[in-house]
Amino acid sequence: MFARVLKPKVRSLFVQSVVLIIIGAILIGWSQSIHIPSAYNTFLGIPYDVNPTFESSLYEILALVVFGVLFLGFGLGELAITPYVYLLEKRLFQIPPPPFNPSFRKTASFCRYCGTQNTPDAVFCSKCGEKLT
Ligand SMILES: [Zn+2]
Repeated sequence: MFARVLKPKVRSLFVQSVVLIIIGAILIGWSQSIHIPSAYNTFLGIPYDVNPTFESSLYEILALVVFGVLFLGFGLGELAITPYVYLLEKRLFQIPPPPFNPSFRKTASFCRYCGTQNTPDAVFCSKCGEKLT
């Protein structure tokens, strides 16, 4: 039961983390591909000494880097917790179901008169012979 409930969760978590990492990588790669001709100085591919004509490109690069890092960060975070979710799920799954024994369904009945414990199916007390209720 736990496997059926949780297995798709760990799979979708893994898929989601991979998708986020790919999106992050694409955004960061995209930011690196934007060329600003007048940029003399760059820091991690982000130009910071720019001719005002190319300011919009600069913001575009900054936005792509920021979102790329966010996606990459969430993706890596999810990827990092995936093994723990998997182990948790596996541990929950491995809890053995309680053994099914029909004789445990009824509890042992005690005699109202003498207190003797009788078998669940007994109708009369095994000691005093009174009817069990
Ligand atoms: Zn009895």
